[in-house]
Amino acid sequence: MPKTVVVLGAGLAGLPVAHYLLRRTSTQHEDLRVILVSPHDTFYWKIASVRFALPDLMAEDKYMYPLAEQFTSYPSTKFELVIGAAETLDPEKNTVSVRVGDELRSIEYHTLVVATGSRYRDNMPWKEVGTSAQTRASLTKLRAGIRDAKSIVVAGAGLTGVEFAGELGSAYGKAGLKKITLVGADPLPLEKRIRDNVRKTAKHELEKLGVKYIGGAKVTTTSDDIKDAKTVTLTHADGTTETLAADLVVPTFGVVPNTSFTPEGMRDAASGCLKQGADLRAPGYKNASAAANVDTQIRHLMTQFNSYFSGQPIKPYVFDANQVQLALTIGRDRGTGQAGSWKLWSFLVWYLKGRHLGTDGADGFARGDTGGMGRAWPK
Ligand SMILES: Cc1cc2nc3c(=O)[nH]c(=O)nc-3n(C[C@H](O)[C@H](O)[C@H](O)COP(=O)(O)OP(=O)(O)OC[C@H]3O[C@@H](n4cnc5c(N)ncnc54)[C@H](O)[C@@H]3O)c2cc1C
Repeated sequence: MPKTVVVLGAGLAGLPVAHYLLRRTSTQHEDLRVILVSPHDTFYWKIASVRFALPDLMAEDKYMYPLAEQFTSYPSTKFELVIGAAETLDPEKNTVSVRVGDELRSIEYHTLVVATGSRYRDNMPWKEVGTSAQTRASLTKLRAGIRDAKSIVVAGAGLTGVEFAGELGSAYGKAGLKKITLVGADPLPLEKRIRDNVRKTAKHELEKLGVKYIGGAKVTTTSDDIKDAKTVTLTHADGTTETLAADLVVPTFGVVPNTSFTPEGMRDAASGCLKQGADLRAPGYKNASAAANVDTQIRHLMTQFNSYFSGQPIKPYVFDANQVQLALTIGRDRGTGQAGSWKLWSFLVWYLKGRHLGTDGADGFARGDTGGMGRAWPK
């Protein structure tokens, strides 16, 4: 009997895990068979979505890679791609049911890797919206809104909001073609865990691109309300409100975990994320792992597959939440970031990330030629 490993999700975690199992682990464990399940029939290079969401900046073949083409080198006895979304998981019976068109297909597994990640609220295309067609439709709508707007309010000043506002600044703000405002809940953009000097630099770089930052406030108008009113309401931390003229409000906050197909008991009640042990497995289910914190987690997981399939103990994953690693693009020419307690130079961030936003290596990543972000596969 082959051991079937079902990988749910073909994002930045699921896709390299599937390649690794086929390229490396299956040479040590010949009885492995991998089924990759994804509702999106293309691999979506979301790292660059803040740039390609703008009209006419990037061709689709730079950020959407047909999934089937990335797996042609593996024999059909070893690999199957299922285009569909997991709908229910039964961890007692080791089965997952997947919606494929109008049909519900039940797939039995020996081992399950849950890599279904998250999506953005309001169907924003920062990440996959659902199917590739739904993501394309969302991009088309956003681009049309940007094209027609004279004033744009970006709601939410986390990584996505800052990077997106920077792209708008580069394309329109600096030249005074459109008025760009970024609204964030804190006096400075970005999360509190990031050093203040990095946050201040981000604000300063945005201002140089003609982006106005309004801190300590939240946008309390929805994109639907704005259509007629052409204004947006901000609510400040002290409860006072302010009205701004705006043709378009673009939400960049509100990430929703894609876990509704799992039994409630497997989820954390507050966050909706899957519960996870130090061994990256779902507590109580030794054959279900959740790869959420991408790069470091999946690299750890890859190094443990051989022990796991050999029935050996696997090593815990150690994560230091204080070790912030962040490279933040601000427009097409600048950036900032943090490595531990060091602030990164703008030139370095531009050179390593901002120039291409990873699109120069995304095709190799999609094919499994590299083991994540241009690095070799772990041993
Ligand atoms: C604009 C932007 C820039 C970023 N820049 C960086 C960066 O520079 N460096 C960095 O490390 N990280 C960056 N990130 C974060 C990074 O994108 C995430 O950490 C990463 O996407 C998480 O990977 P994942 O595979 O767990 O989930 P996701 O990438 O969210 O992928 C989940 C996959 O699961 C699929 N799926 C959803 N529901 C189901 C279902 N029911 N059944 C089966 N499949 C399903 C989806 O189609 C998707 O393909 C950035 C994110 C954004 C939005």
